[in-house]
Amino acid sequence: MKKEGMKCVSCGKTAKKAKLRFQGAEIDGWKCSCGEEYFHPEQAERILLLNKILTKEYKIKLGQIRSNLIIRIPTELADALGLHKGENVLIKAEGLKKLHIEAA
Ligand SMILES: [Zn+2]
Repeated sequence: MKKEGMKCVSCGKTAKKAKLRFQGAEIDGWKCSCGEEYFHPEQAERILLLNKILTKEYKIKLGQIRSNLIIRIPTELADALGLHKGENVLIKAEGLKKLHIEAA
């Protein structure tokens, strides 16, 4: 989004580009001198999605291709984290029953 300013709906002045706090994260948006804040819609949506998945656990059945086990990443998880086919992730054992997977 390239808009430098946007018209404030509550006072009619121009809200200026700013970094805003939204649900514990910092995102782009516009802030008016009257105190009104407007959040960047896509960034706000992404934070909402992220906050939703952070409270969730997924039970996934392991698949197998030849001798390798495969893990399917649920779509909402991949979307929220911005993971795509062909990208690399780091995987590390953290114990006998614990795996850590990190977007590389
Ligand atoms: Zn205003």
